[in-house]
Amino acid sequence: MAIAAETQPQEQQQHFSGASDPTRKRWTLNDFDFGKPLGRGKFGHVYMTREKKSNHIVALKVLFKIQLKQSQLENQLCREVEIQSHLRHPNILRLYGYFYDQKRVYLALEYAEKGELYKELQKCKYFSERRAATYIASLARALIYCHGKHVIHRDIKPENLLIGAKGEVKIADFGWSVHTFNRRRTMCGTLDYLPPEMVQNIEHDSSVDIWSLGVLCYEFLYGVPPFEAQEHSDTCRRIVQVDLKFPSSPTVSSVAKDLISQMLVKDSSRRLPLHKLLKHPWIVENADPSGNFNC
Ligand code: AMP
Repeated sequence: MAIAAETQPQEQQQHFSGASDPTRKRWTLNDFDFGKPLGRGKFGHVYMTREKKSNHIVALKVLFKIQLKQSQLENQLCREVEIQSHLRHPNILRLYGYFYDQKRVYLALEYAEKGELYKELQKCKYFSERRAATYIASLARALIYCHGKHVIHRDIKPENLLIGAKGEVKIADFGWSVHTFNRRRTMCGTLDYLPPEMVQNIEHDSSVDIWSLGVLCYEFLYGVPPFEAQEHSDTCRRIVQVDLKFPSSPTVSSVAKDLISQMLVKDSSRRLPLHKLLKHPWIVENADPSGNFNC
């Protein structure tokens, strides 16, 4: 069966009970019509589905319990579900709810019609300054919202971002996120995007997300992350030394480079705060205020 997102009337979206209705009975597989597979992750598949009662289109992620157990990721998944289901922001993928049977866990997620941002970046090699600034401003707003709720994402990178129907970016993966009132020590995330304090395994706080957003901004504009190297040890060294170089090609404006340099600062307390990032001339001049980018 093919399901088209356009068949989803606005009122039905609003009537969709989702996870927030405590009186709603727990979903089972019978509550969904299955459509096309949307992709395959490390622990299972994601399908386009329609929740029968509301007609709402939902991306249903199917995870195998045995694989989660073997990888000791059950606690991480619980934390991810707990955090993501409480977040409500246009640039954060909604997690409507979850259910399970004997073998599988099912996550009912907001459907991101335009798919993976990572694939778009691979296709284009690098983004225009307008596109990059629009995404960075939206992500900064989403992170300000998260930090206000004491949630640090800790794994901002292209692979964790999806694009919605209007061309808006959405943070999709909270696997490494943490709800915290204190400084943290755990080493997590993806090497290229790790800040010096996490590489050195010293305490960190929400300013790790400012660093990762700076790395992302660089990768959007140059097509490669700034501290990339053949060996992991060289990447770590380049991160700790903040060995930041701006290649001559592709051409990137000096105002964009200025913003990146203010985010990739070793002393975490001196990184450009996200509310100031939104006022930086590069963002003001280039970011579409709607947050939507369409090619
Ligand atoms: P994951 O297991 O989260 O890595 O998802 C595997 C793939 O499924 C992703 O790379 C996307 O292509 C697709 N996918 C996951 N979640 C969604 C979603 N909410 N909307 C659309 N496609 C998705």
